[in-house]
Amino acid sequence: MSSTAKKCVVIGAGFSGSCSAWELVKAGHDVTVIDPVLPGLSTSYGNAGCISPTAVVPFSYPGVIRQIPRWLFSADGPLKVRWSDLPAVTPWLWKFWRSGSMEKVEAIAEAQNTLMTRVKADYDRILVETKAEWLRESRGHILLYDQRTHYERDAWQFALRKRLGQDCRELSLAELAELEPALAEGPNAAQRVALLDESWEHLVDPAEVVRSIAEAAFAAGAKWRQQRVTDLRRSENGPQLRLDGGETIDADEVIIATGVWSNKLTAPLGTHIPVGAKRGYHTMVHEPSATVSRPITLASRMFLFTPMRLGLRLAGTAEFAAIDARPDYRRAKILLKVARDYLPGLEGDSYSEWMGQRPMMPDSKPVIGPLPGQPGMWCAFGHGHYGLTQGPTTGRIIADLVSGRSPGLDLAPFAADRF
Ligand SMILES: Cc1cc2nc3c(=O)[nH]c(=O)nc-3n(C[C@H](O)[C@H](O)[C@H](O)COP(=O)(O)OP(=O)(O)OC[C@H]3O[C@@H](n4cnc5c(N)ncnc54)[C@H](O)[C@@H]3O)c2cc1C
Repeated sequence: MSSTAKKCVVIGAGFSGSCSAWELVKAGHDVTVIDPVLPGLSTSYGNAGCISPTAVVPFSYPGVIRQIPRWLFSADGPLKVRWSDLPAVTPWLWKFWRSGSMEKVEAIAEAQNTLMTRVKADYDRILVETKAEWLRESRGHILLYDQRTHYERDAWQFALRKRLGQDCRELSLAELAELEPALAEGPNAAQRVALLDESWEHLVDPAEVVRSIAEAAFAAGAKWRQQRVTDLRRSENGPQLRLDGGETIDADEVIIATGVWSNKLTAPLGTHIPVGAKRGYHTMVHEPSATVSRPITLASRMFLFTPMRLGLRLAGTAEFAAIDARPDYRRAKILLKVARDYLPGLEGDSYSEWMGQRPMMPDSKPVIGPLPGQPGMWCAFGHGHYGLTQGPTTGRIIADLVSGRSPGLDLAPFAADRF
């Protein structure tokens, strides 16, 4: 260990924490990772697996509010609010709505783009270094609209992305049928609009990728504590953590990578960060009778199919509820029902269902950087829909910050106190 090595504690072992731990060990620091759950088994477990470097447009934008009633009151709709939890989520929804002016949307997309343009290089490197390259497929992504009018409603998003140097190409229906024959049938198949974005890649087992990255960090010297941090504070020596069981640990640097639970640690230190829990579900169809060969987003229904190592994953939907509310697996069943509109007769030899909570900031940008007023404490959470995509880049930035190096981009748009 060099004289510049610091004693670092990473709280949380999802994509964000595991990538941070790997980068910190590589930078020569003394690292401990703490989580009551094994690496990758929380939100990072069951996502749709897409590495989506062109996904820079935020979820709050002008006009989105007008679409919400239609989504909310449709039986198979993509959005649900638990009415009993509405008072708890209303302040977050207000901030979400306030983030959606066109001026803000453009600034958010530009800021996200500064992170996203690094994603490919950071992924290429970390997957090779941690021997997880075999879990990535590079076949692009298809965005599928049911009708041209739906596509035209989103045309401003493509214009914005084009201004940022991103591109995708419209496929003819014949090209779509050649690339994805299973999608050729189904109602309205002749009216669809399909866009191919070749920059997207996907992980065929996201949880296994997190496990590989964390294992690589442990093999390189990081220590593992399967415990919960109950309290984060400042002692006269610097950051101090208390674990369940009462033990305290002193650290030079603490990385808060605790997803939707992050505010529980930061609020007592004086910084309330509005990280919301935007739930999503998946249904995994094992041995599917029909499948696709690359991730397909059903833009008109707001969910995805991703071909994975263990079957076809149908993932998505948005549900707002309190963090500890019980999952409502009817949401996962809707995914299967809707999927059959696109892959008629879809059956499998078994199905599994899962719920995860996207750590979602109202402006769709993560929180990466110092915790205000708390030297040696760093935020690495709030990645919302794109935590898998941005995990390696976040880890790299955190290691730069802890090591006193410039991360090479402006972190002001990702500041913890921006609200
Ligand atoms: C349905 C769905 C589909 C998605 N699809 C995609 C996709 O295709 N592409 C993409 O980029 N992203 C996707 N996402 C988002 C992505 O999964 C998340 O952004 C990402 O997993 C968040 O990672 P994380 O490390 O921040 O959080 P987590 O994976 O939740 O990890 C946080 C960890 O912190 C631990 N923790 C919490 N509190 C404490 C404490 N006090 N002490 C110790 N440990 C603690 C937790 O146990 C947990 O393990 C999707 C999400 C969902 C739900």
